[in-house]
Amino acid sequence: MTVIYNFSAGPAVLPKEVLQQAAAEMLDWHGSGMSVMEMSHRGAEFMSIMDAAQQDLRDLLAIPANYKILFLQGGGLGENAIVPMNLMGLRPDATIDFVHTGSWSGKSIKEAQKYAKVNVAASAAENGFTSVPARDSWKLTADAAYVHLCTNETIDGVEYHFVPDVAADTNGAPIVADMSSHILSREIDVSRYGVIFGGAQKNIGPAGLTIAIVRDDLLGQALPCCPSAFDWKIVAENGSMYNTPPTYAIYIAGLVFQWLKRQGGVAAMEQKNIAKATLLYDYLDSTDFYENRVEKAYRSRMNVPFYLKDETLNASFLAAAKERGLLQLKGHKSVGGMRASIYNAMPFEGVQALVHFMQEFAQASHK
Ligand SMILES: *Cc1c(COP(=O)(O)O)cnc(C)c1O
Repeated sequence: MTVIYNFSAGPAVLPKEVLQQAAAEMLDWHGSGMSVMEMSHRGAEFMSIMDAAQQDLRDLLAIPANYKILFLQGGGLGENAIVPMNLMGLRPDATIDFVHTGSWSGKSIKEAQKYAKVNVAASAAENGFTSVPARDSWKLTADAAYVHLCTNETIDGVEYHFVPDVAADTNGAPIVADMSSHILSREIDVSRYGVIFGGAQKNIGPAGLTIAIVRDDLLGQALPCCPSAFDWKIVAENGSMYNTPPTYAIYIAGLVFQWLKRQGGVAAMEQKNIAKATLLYDYLDSTDFYENRVEKAYRSRMNVPFYLKDETLNASFLAAAKERGLLQLKGHKSVGGMRASIYNAMPFEGVQALVHFMQEFAQASHK
C-alpha cells in the first residue's frame, strides 16, 4: 500500500498514533463499557477526560492562571461574532481595530461590522496579501475596544512571526488573535494577548470544537444580545459545560495534547515545523517551475500556497500527486494554485515526499 500524506488545510491530518488509540478505545473506553461518545458529559469518566485536556493544553502553552480555557462550538467563523458580542458590552460605541492580512481577517472585519464600529488599521490588500503590514504603518484607534489579528492566514499563507505592541497607541487595548491554523505549532507568550481563539480542525483535532483562551478581566463584558451558550463568563463559570460540549472532539483533542507532550512539547514541535517549512520553501525558491509569492519574512510555516508557473499543468500535477499518495494539494478556490498544509501531524517524511515528487514532476514536464 502506498503511504498516504494528507496536505488538507482543514479538517486536516491527525497523528496516526492518536487515531490508533481512538480506534482501540472506540467501543470500550478504559473498561467503562462505553464509547466516549455515549458518556454523560457530567459523569466521572468524561470529567476526567475534560480536566486532563484542559490541564495538558495549559501546560503545553504555559497559559497563565489568570486565563480561562473555554471549549466552545461554532468554529472560527462563529468567533467572529462571538468575540465582539463578548467584548463590546461595556463600551458599545467603541471601535474595534483590525489588521487585514488575508481572507480570514477579511471575514472577521465583515462580521464585526454587525456589532460595532470597525477601523481597518492596516491592510495588505494592495500587495495581494503577501505580507503583514509594517507595525509603524498601522493607524490604530486611540481608545480601541481591542485589536483583532489573524496571526496565520490559512489561505494566503501569511504568518506573524512577531507579537505587535499595540497598548501604547490604543490606551491599553488587548489583542484578540485568531490562531485557528497555527495554535500549538510554535511557542507563544499568552500574556501578550487578551483572547486567543481557534477552530480545532486545523492543528488540534476534529471539527466541531472551538477553543478560546480568555484573560479573566475580559469576562463579563458581553452585549445583552450575546447568547448565553456563547457568553464566555457563563461558559467559564460552568467549566465549559453550560450546555453539552462536543465531547468526542474534546476527547480526541486531549489525545493530541498528550501526543504533543510525548513529542517534547510545543518547543520541540516548533523546531520540526521550521525544518519542514524550510525544506519546502527552499525548494520552491530554487526552481523557476513553481513559485510562492509571500515575502520571506511573513511566510507561514503551516500553510504553503504555491503556483505552477504554467498553470495549464495544474490538473495533471494534482492527478500525479494523488497517484503518489500526496492528497488534497489543491489551493483554495479564491486564490487558485496549490497549497500544502504541513501542520504538526505532518511528518518530515511527508514534506520530503512532496518535494521529491515536485522535482520529478518539474523534470518530466521540462522534457
Ligand atoms: C479555518 C479558519 C477559520 C474558520 O473556521 P470554521 O471552523 O470553518 O468556522 C477561521 N480563521 C482561520 C484562520 C481559519 O484557518
